[in-house]
Amino acid sequence: MKSFLPLGKFSFGMGDRFGQQGRAQLHACIKATELGADVVPVWNKSNREHTFVGSDPADVRAEADAAVKALGWKKTYHVDADHIRLETVDRFISPSDFFTIDVAESIGKPASKESVQSFIARHPELSGKVSLPHLSESFEIKREDLERVAGQFLLAAQEAGKIHRHIANVKGASNFITEVSMDETDHPQRPMDLLVILAMLADEKIPMQTIAPKFSGRFNKGVDYVGEVVRFEREFNDDLAVIDHAIQCYGFPSTLKLSVHSGSDKFSLYEPIRLALKKFGAGVHLKTAGTTWLEELIGLAEAGGDGLAMAREIYAYAHGHVDEFCAPYASVIDINKQRLPSAEAVNAWTSEQFVSALRHDPRNPGYNASVRQLLHVSFKVAAKFGPRYLQALARHEAVVARNVTENLFERHLKPLLLGRSRQAAPVRSDHSKVPVTA
Ligand SMILES: [Zn+2]
Repeated sequence: MKSFLPLGKFSFGMGDRFGQQGRAQLHACIKATELGADVVPVWNKSNREHTFVGSDPADVRAEADAAVKALGWKKTYHVDADHIRLETVDRFISPSDFFTIDVAESIGKPASKESVQSFIARHPELSGKVSLPHLSESFEIKREDLERVAGQFLLAAQEAGKIHRHIANVKGASNFITEVSMDETDHPQRPMDLLVILAMLADEKIPMQTIAPKFSGRFNKGVDYVGEVVRFEREFNDDLAVIDHAIQCYGFPSTLKLSVHSGSDKFSLYEPIRLALKKFGAGVHLKTAGTTWLEELIGLAEAGGDGLAMAREIYAYAHGHVDEFCAPYASVIDINKQRLPSAEAVNAWTSEQFVSALRHDPRNPGYNASVRQLLHVSFKVAAKFGPRYLQALARHEAVVARNVTENLFERHLKPLLLGRSRQAAPVRSDHSKVPVTA
């Protein structure tokens, strides 16, 4: 494999729609580091997001560098060109050092017959029974399985190779980290599929360090996992077994690991992920994004006065455009419209009511997952407000930053990397007395 920029074992992707929370986000990583988690911060932003908010990849680099300088972070950090394709990658190449190559568009499109046949001929090791250490059960790969997976993914793997070579030509292969993402597609990839896909990506000689498969279950935006956690756990463990094998067998960097595009806040998966990583001695990359924008809104609401007024105004606008805002995200949100209060009702909410509805604490009876998902996909409203929104953030910087930091540290980094006994959570009789971030 070609040279590459090595990525640390535990890396944490943070998105920041409006580019104002870099320091607050890094602060969460510092707190986790102080408790012994060796976390590598990665700031990620996709082309789609840049388009929605009118920002540029260079802004993300500037934000990350400024945060690192301001807080004196001495360890590594990265800037992730998230979900890029050949047509969109160019303006990311200079400011980014982590590239998430998105080949979802090519999944399901057939590669040439000859390339499918030569792939199968090149990989006799993929035929027959596969039993790997720690695999929940061995599986058998038949010729029709190989043809099916190659039919689905070979063109996508070739496309990933093309994009990697393009970036390497401009930037130099040793100057960046490569991720390949296949998560934005309809059907989850089973561990068997992942093994075959890894063989294809190895043929392309991509020194890939993270791969984002689509896991089973629903990864709705900003809310917890919907699906059988036990099934996810088995799949995640089996994927780790496959990754271990692929490192040995196909010469991937020893740093190759899974990337979980979480859509933010998959709290019920953190414990199973942490335990699986421990069992395999493996690392992980976990991406979050929109959770930080929601903390900005929570901070504004908590601030009261004009901050609360702006949070209410954003809700009112979002509520008036619910179908328009939700349409592009249909496969990653489940909003119950009956559970969305009217704009008039929200205009009468106190700070505490707004914060309770929005903050991701399912034990709070005021928590409303439909409101949370609607606001998650409504960041375009704040983008439309432009300077008015940014000025509100600046006015209420302290309370916003506190929420951003606490959220990433308490609800994400701690349970994912350090562990937190769910049983130890306080059983509440009086909601008002329980710390909000417990
Ligand atoms: Zn993704």
